[in-house]
Amino acid sequence: MNLILLGPPGAGKGTQAKRLEERYGLRQLATGDMLRAERASGSALGQRVQVIMDRGELVSDDIMIALIAQSIDAERDDKGFVLDGFPRTLPQAQALDQMLGERGLKLDCVIEMTVDEAALVDRISGRFSCAHCGASFHARFNPPKVVFNPPKVAGVCDFCGSHDFKQRADDTAETVRTRLAAYRAQTAPILPYYRAKGLLRPVDGMAAPDDVTKAIERVIAAPVKAGG
Ligand code: AMP
Repeated sequence: MNLILLGPPGAGKGTQAKRLEERYGLRQLATGDMLRAERASGSALGQRVQVIMDRGELVSDDIMIALIAQSIDAERDDKGFVLDGFPRTLPQAQALDQMLGERGLKLDCVIEMTVDEAALVDRISGRFSCAHCGASFHARFNPPKVVFNPPKVAGVCDFCGSHDFKQRADDTAETVRTRLAAYRAQTAPILPYYRAKGLLRPVDGMAAPDDVTKAIERVIAAPVKAGG
């Protein structure tokens, strides 16, 4: 099963992709994570994309298409993959179709995580993760407006006990606005492309994370059954 999770930054794609990885053994291919790993390694690619990412703009299609082709080929098995953060432009979507076709693969479903954009800036600028195990949390941000998922004990990771947390460099309110604008201008036009192919399935991304997971599981059960 090969899936795409599509939606603006902060829609919960990363959280849900991880759950799909655990539940179905799908490989999570998260282009943002790949780019952050390149940056952390100090590679030439990492240095090239650093400024673009920190501004909240999109990295060029050429780089992204090469990166995703590499990771699809890196490790192929019959369980499939879940794309998180790719494609983000129409040329990326078209290149993906071509690259899957050349490899005898196909997409089963494109899950559109619908969100209330007004809530996203607070949602994203309040998020942080454990520097040790990567678990995600949300601070109470701009109280009383937004209450999310803080650690049970302030300053201590629920999962590994670490006291070390980090925030993404591009999760500031100003950069989030640029990222949302990039989504509207460059990524949203992909939706009709997949709708026309009959692959698009909307899911309410504003629901509680467990409810979003259940909704996604229901959605993907249908094409899987239909396809045998
Ligand atoms: P994400 O972690 O998916 O929010 O991605 C973080 C940043 O990485 C984005 O704001 C872009 O600068 C860059 N990026 C990730 N995926 C793509 C993509 N498919 N196309 C262009 N830029 C991307």
